[in-house]
Amino acid sequence: MEPTIYDISVEGRTGVSLTNVDVPTSELPADLLRSDLRFPEVSELQVVRHFTNMSHLNHGIDKGFYPLGSCTMKYNPKINEDMARLPGFAHLHPLTDDSGSQGALALMYELQNWLAEIAGFQGVSLQPAAGAQGELAGILMIRKYHVERGDKERTTILVPNSAHGTNPATCSMAGFKVIELPSDKDGNVDLEALRAACAGDNARTIAGMMIIVPSTLGLFDRNIVEIIELVHNAGGLLYMDGANMNALMGVVKPGELGFDVMHYNLHKTFSTPHGGGGPGCGAVAAGETLAKYLPGPVVQMVEAETEETPPLYGLRMPEKSIGRLKAFHGNFGMHVRAYAYLRVYGAEGIKNVTRHAVLNANYIRAKLHDTYRVPYDRHCGHEFVMEGHFDGVESVHALDISKRLMDYGIHPPTNYFPLIVREALLIEPTETEDKATLDNFIDVMKKIAQEARENPEILTNAPHTTPVSRLDEVRAAKQLVLCCSPVLET
Ligand SMILES: *Cc1c(COP(=O)(O)O)cnc(C)c1O
Repeated sequence: MEPTIYDISVEGRTGVSLTNVDVPTSELPADLLRSDLRFPEVSELQVVRHFTNMSHLNHGIDKGFYPLGSCTMKYNPKINEDMARLPGFAHLHPLTDDSGSQGALALMYELQNWLAEIAGFQGVSLQPAAGAQGELAGILMIRKYHVERGDKERTTILVPNSAHGTNPATCSMAGFKVIELPSDKDGNVDLEALRAACAGDNARTIAGMMIIVPSTLGLFDRNIVEIIELVHNAGGLLYMDGANMNALMGVVKPGELGFDVMHYNLHKTFSTPHGGGGPGCGAVAAGETLAKYLPGPVVQMVEAETEETPPLYGLRMPEKSIGRLKAFHGNFGMHVRAYAYLRVYGAEGIKNVTRHAVLNANYIRAKLHDTYRVPYDRHCGHEFVMEGHFDGVESVHALDISKRLMDYGIHPPTNYFPLIVREALLIEPTETEDKATLDNFIDVMKKIAQEARENPEILTNAPHTTPVSRLDEVRAAKQLVLCCSPVLET
């Protein structure tokens, strides 16, 4: 175990020097004073070293490759951080009225417009704090649409069985029943099952469908246009989970495909950080049918620019908004970072982001499909899924491969998800990694496959080089110890 800050404490040592007081002193009331606060007594240098060392114990994108599928762990450019720290943004009080925050509102307005443009949609709300909250917003919008039309029998949402866990959870939270659709042998939605779900009397109960494009198998559903038509013809609306926009940006517009509403993960696609469940932004975008239901407030241009005056922006509730989802303006710091990212890349740049993300994933797939089983071995989007087990080596599972990767300084891929693939390893390299990094990963994965056959224990006992060895993950999650205290010593 690393020493805690209390272990390096030395009585009488101090990290600050206070100036002499230049006002009269007086006694503090004794009954308010504690005799012992048990603060660590350390020098400034000790504190700096302690926290710097601690920061190296965890893996992060700034430290190494992080191919965690579905999470888009791309590099977060430092210029985003510089922009978010500009005092005019960082110190702006959320209660400042519109006239005092025109710069921030202009930024949000432009970001809304760019996201609308990338999606091919009319309206965007930056309110939701996470992808899952964006999903909830979109599904509540669909619900309100049906309820307002008096179409109250529509209580079911269709969700493919390759979905992200948040999708069915969102539908349940919004009060819907979920019908799970099977996938066909190519990883597409099973069209026969979809036709049956939308046929005859069933059609009247369909509120909509929620589908990830490309799916969590990394696959672009070849029948997507037909799927959208089938659900629309049944009277349902189409929600696209856009967490995987890193495979579509600048190339495919969900609005043009026929979707009605979607969410973005700015903390994936648009390079805002997302460690430790930190603040994110699950912006929702909607087309003509649903834009008036968007959560609010959203930023509108309330007075156009004239020759003498700049445009005037204001916060407004969309006409039939489902309401607020988040205090104030959402996570504004994330808006600044995503805005900076889009300004740096521009329209052509983000198209290349998508192209390179897709190229990198296909490169790894093509290099590894002879060593690992790739169940849907066709052109993938920004990620692909393979199976982490080997014929004749019963003891080795996907988890062991993942743990062993940590010994090579690589973050594990996503394990056991999507659920429909045996021993799934979902690999997403992102566009920010160069060929040398991808080649190293490919070499390491081949080496691990060899180790699995020659010396499986080295995998099943991994990791060997990390600060802590294999954890009881359930206990680690249930009994979190997030801070140290001197009490632990006694
Ligand atoms: C990450 C992700 C989500 C959820 O986003 P959060 O910000 O973690 O709530 C939803 N769907 C898919 C496909 C995702 O990858």
